[in-house]
Amino acid sequence: LRLVSVRKVYGTEDNPVTALANVSLSLSAGTFTAVMGPSGSGKSTLLQCAAGLDRPTEGRVYVDGTEMTGGSEAELTKFRRKRIGFVFQQFNLLPTLTVLQNVLLPLKLAGRRANPDAAVDILRRVGLGDRLGHRPAELSGGQQQRVAIARALVTSPKLIFGDEPTGALDTRSAREVLTLLQETVRFYGRTVVLVTHDPVAASYADSVLFLADGHLVGHLADPTAEAVA
Ligand code: ADP
Ligand code: ADP
Repeated sequence: LRLVSVRKVYGTEDNPVTALANVSLSLSAGTFTAVMGPSGSGKSTLLQCAAGLDRPTEGRVYVDGTEMTGGSEAELTKFRRKRIGFVFQQFNLLPTLTVLQNVLLPLKLAGRRANPDAAVDILRRVGLGDRLGHRPAELSGGQQQRVAIARALVTSPKLIFGDEPTGALDTRSAREVLTLLQETVRFYGRTVVLVTHDPVAASYADSVLFLADGHLVGHLADPTAEAVA
């Protein structure tokens, strides 16, 4: 993931709000990065722009060497569905669908063959092989978030974004979810970017980016990360 001089301004010409001032960064494939900073510092805006959910006012975003911000809206949506996975604080599962159907949905949206075997495989990996026919409401918060992780992984995206994915979970479920994200990086070579307020969540990452007032003010690498990798 590479951001080059990304600026995002909300509001009107008379009353502009600069959410991201001039952010450039480069995250290598196979890394786990946390983004921290006070409320209003631009974390969500950074995620929205980096994940192709919104467009920067200025600057460019590259994923895997391709400029994501170059094309039309339709191309951006297609790119996102193919290459990027998302995990949110509130899980965002569809309540009327079963666990398996929820996980198959991104494949259908991406116009791919919805192969149940692959989805079942991933659900087994996240420890939910015996919950395929359940509805989200029949699961705990931690289990629902693991379904959401399986859904994020099913298209095999190289890049996965989490927006406070442990914010609604108890400590134990949060640790399980963070360990799963870590394994996704360690064993499957995915790149994970996690926006969080929680220092415990950030401690699972290899490095931490700090934002303040829309500026990148620090990038702290975990000294043990190299050794583990
Ligand atoms: P964080 O996620 O760190 O809390 P945000 O990215 O949500 O920060 O917000 C950064 C700044 O941009 C804040 O000043 C916020 O009020 C402003 N902002 C965010 N989204 C919008 C929007 N849609 N319209 C206007 N201002 C916004
Ligand atoms: P769309 O919602 O434009 O049809 P997708 O379904 O491909 O696009 O969305 C990809 C993921 O991003 C979905 O999980 C969706 O819930 C989420 N998403 C879309 N827009 C936003 C947004 N503005 N903020 C947070 N998440 C979003």
